[in-house]
Amino acid sequence: MMTTRRISPAVRQAVRQRASFCCEYCYSQEKYCPDPLSVEHIVPRASAGCDDDANLALACQGCNGRKHVAVSAIDPVTEREVPLYHPRRDV
Ligand SMILES: [Zn+2]
Repeated sequence: MMTTRRISPAVRQAVRQRASFCCEYCYSQEKYCPDPLSVEHIVPRASAGCDDDANLALACQGCNGRKHVAVSAIDPVTEREVPLYHPRRDV
């Protein structure tokens, strides 16, 4: 079942602090970003991702917009579908 619960301000702030106010995908610092960073779902709600803080990441508008609801993409070199970078699992 998909949840419609909003992420609380306290959880948002905890995610922001855990990420040291940097995008967890490209490591841009928020203070140098033209737009505020947003808390996004690593596995989107549309793909049964939950609101647990382990599934939340801080992302700049560029990374969040490019990723959107995807969890995989075609590697242009191998032309195979591969999982996208996962800030909790991947280094
Ligand atoms: Zn980014």
